[in-house]
Amino acid sequence: GTRTIGFIGLGHMGGPMAANLVEDGHRVLGYDLMPELLAQAVESGVEDAGSSAHAAATADVVITMLPAGRHVLGLYRDEGLLAAARPGTLFIDCSTIDVADARAAHEAATAAGMRALDAPVSGGVVGAEAGTLTFMAGGGGAEFAEAEPLLAVMGKKAVHCGGPGAGQAAKICNNMILGISMIAVSEAFVLGESLGLSAQSLFDVASTASGQCWALTANCPVPGPVPTSPANRDYRPGFAAPLMAKDLALAASAARAGGVPAELGLRAAELYAEYAEGGGADQDFSGIVTTLRRGMAD
Ligand code: NAD
Repeated sequence: GTRTIGFIGLGHMGGPMAANLVEDGHRVLGYDLMPELLAQAVESGVEDAGSSAHAAATADVVITMLPAGRHVLGLYRDEGLLAAARPGTLFIDCSTIDVADARAAHEAATAAGMRALDAPVSGGVVGAEAGTLTFMAGGGGAEFAEAEPLLAVMGKKAVHCGGPGAGQAAKICNNMILGISMIAVSEAFVLGESLGLSAQSLFDVASTASGQCWALTANCPVPGPVPTSPANRDYRPGFAAPLMAKDLALAASAARAGGVPAELGLRAAELYAEYAEGGGADQDFSGIVTTLRRGMAD
């Protein structure tokens, strides 16, 4: 059925996600701190709620799409978002945040008489616009079932991963695989080059052998073998390096907190942080291959 949705955070991801909900016939009360983003959302049919509290006050469901855990917890607790909503309102946080922060957000929501789900996404801005995101959700089964029809409007797949924080856990574990495997593929191409092996030959072998992985076959870090990969357009994103650095920092902090010796994950977090703060600030994460070449001895 048609629902009244409070949507807070109308940036790169939230803007198109909210627009897709409007298009599906839902009433969306939106808010963002940036007036120009709010104005843009209004053009797509979102109603200007005037404040985050107003967006929550009459909503059945409140969706947040914010930069980090401190923004989510700040809104939930300090800015009175939970206090403004009607008891039993479902709070779905789609931001990528620290697992511990996600669990704290669940606790704050339930303590205030609300229901909660963490539901971070993968698929990027392209997926947000096309409504083809993948959601990974943490929380109760009833909450997931209620969220599912809305997630189906904004995405093509939603996986219920477990209790509070499980969606965030799945997100950072997946992206840790991706971050490490992109470095592995990049190192292999640089080593192959130094051995006189062509990129195409290495690709032809590895893509059909045990080295096969998404970083190689979909987002190949060298130009040529995969024409649609960012390497063929000077590493224009795609999945920007600073976002990979952010996700790996969350994985690293979770690994440290849990005493998990994820040596490659921790090292990948360092390498992407360096890249994102330097030449990779506006590049696809696969551009990390250029820093590996630069580090070579002459
Ligand atoms: P963004 O910076 O474009 O959007 C976040 C928005 O939140 C901003 O417009 C900001 O003004 C707003 N905001 C912050 N605090 C607020 C507050 N207190 N009240 C109201 N509005 C507030 O970021 P994004 O690219 O849309 O990403 C959002 C989240 O999604 C992040 O956690 C990110 O890691 C995750 N994510 C992003 C991508 C991507 O490709 N961009 C992909 C997957 C996941």
